[in-house]
Amino acid sequence: MNQRKCSECGEWIDAQIETCTNCNTVFYESEKEEHKINVERAQREMDIPMIAIHESDSPIAKFFKRIVQFHQVVFYLILYAISYMAAALAG
Ligand SMILES: [Zn+2]
Repeated sequence: MNQRKCSECGEWIDAQIETCTNCNTVFYESEKEEHKINVERAQREMDIPMIAIHESDSPIAKFFKRIVQFHQVVFYLILYAISYMAAALAG
């Protein structure tokens, strides 16, 4: 039995159902939001000054910002690898 608790009304319902049968809360939406918060928290903890994508940005702005974000991640991964290797070499 795979059940989940509704975050709105506390009712236990089937995990396969995406909408609470009691209060009609859509779980998929709240989980997406949760995922976004987790990503933002991870970025804060890693202290990566990532470029921010806002909901109000135009699709073109979002597209270019995503490309910049991707390169930022690659850049920081390389920095991390270099500092790791430097620490390993220093013993
Ligand atoms: Zn509910």
